[in-house]
Amino acid sequence: MDAPLASPQPIAVAGPAPRRTRQARVAWGARVVTVGGDAPVRVQSMTNTDTQDAIATAIQVKELALAGSELVRITVNTPEAAAQVPYVREQLDRMGVDVPLIGDFHYNGHRLLTDHPACAEALSKYRINPGNVGKGAKRDAQFGQMVEAALKWDKPVRIGVNWGSLDQELLAGLMDENARRREPWEARQVMYEALIQSAVGSAAQAVELGMDPAQVILSCKVSGVQDLIAVYRALARRCDYPLHLGLTEAGMATKGTVASSTALAILLQEGIGDTIRVSLTPQPGEARTQEVVVASEILQSLGLRVFVPSVTACPGCGRTTSTTFQELAKQIDDHLRAQMPVWRARYPGVESLKVAVMGCIVNGPGESKHADIGISLPGTGEAPAAPVFIDGEKALTLRGEHIAREFHAIVERYIEQRFGEAAA
Ligand code: SF4
Repeated sequence: MDAPLASPQPIAVAGPAPRRTRQARVAWGARVVTVGGDAPVRVQSMTNTDTQDAIATAIQVKELALAGSELVRITVNTPEAAAQVPYVREQLDRMGVDVPLIGDFHYNGHRLLTDHPACAEALSKYRINPGNVGKGAKRDAQFGQMVEAALKWDKPVRIGVNWGSLDQELLAGLMDENARRREPWEARQVMYEALIQSAVGSAAQAVELGMDPAQVILSCKVSGVQDLIAVYRALARRCDYPLHLGLTEAGMATKGTVASSTALAILLQEGIGDTIRVSLTPQPGEARTQEVVVASEILQSLGLRVFVPSVTACPGCGRTTSTTFQELAKQIDDHLRAQMPVWRARYPGVESLKVAVMGCIVNGPGESKHADIGISLPGTGEAPAAPVFIDGEKALTLRGEHIAREFHAIVERYIEQRFGEAAA
């Protein structure tokens, strides 16, 4: 007789490790976006308009916010740009967009924040780059001036280190120190250390000057995936400030999306990262909001956030030679995403909806049953009929030329019935 099989241990359900940072508050009026601690991981983005053009900047901020960006950073690089910041804010308030604005400062932030108090007031957070806030004896004074503005206007700061503009004096000092080691570190390891010391040391300096440690957010951005993972793991071990996470200069399209997703997913799964930005270079003609779409998808794929209904679609294969299901999947996905700014308010909970659009009978009915609403389109050689499944049950079968339009209407009706006011 065969020996009975040993009962297997249940397989642990995977999930991200808990985050262990303090919690900062980034606010505009009644809108408070918590960052860190047990707050959801936040999506950030940045405009690429000239801030001097207040209208164009406000419009792009609005687009980014409607796409799901919870914090939007704008460039503040000249006195003219600083002078326009209050008007950008005013335009947004007028349009009913209360997303907090972050000012991105380099080189002259100390002067701009001091000379333009209305700008300092209209921003909800200041980004300080310790690598270019000032050189030599001026460095501490100019850094102090920015912190003073943050204290005066009660704003949090992000100490944002970037390896492209790393504090060269600090790096040179660490290189010298390394040269004296019996077993010198690799140059790359010295650079990691410089990034972290620049961030953590500047944060300590800000706290000494009176900043509440909970109002200090850190970032150490690099452009290589393995470098980012190494630096953020060490940074997370060495401080409990909320961390802004992103691959700097991620690149264009597929490369930028894949590199950012790979790096951010690994760190987020380890509980590292409280806000994220995907620094995509837009393709000519591509909407700036693409970076928000990618950032949201990273969080949604990891099960950390739910922003938009998900559309499950099969890749297609030799069993389906028509592009009908690809087109339908894209139409549904685009439609659901485009409607979200309105639906968020009208249909609470709609973001949890799962739709399946499948190419043939092999996995079509099964996958459609797992979704809230799904359609299994006919593959090559199958009868020209598309069964629709609602809440796991076959509800009807669509036929003819207007399958796409009819399925669209069925999805809309389902959303109305399940998430509309009448459903409450
Ligand atoms: S569901 Fe059908 S068409 Fe889609 S990948 Fe699977 S076998 Fe191919």
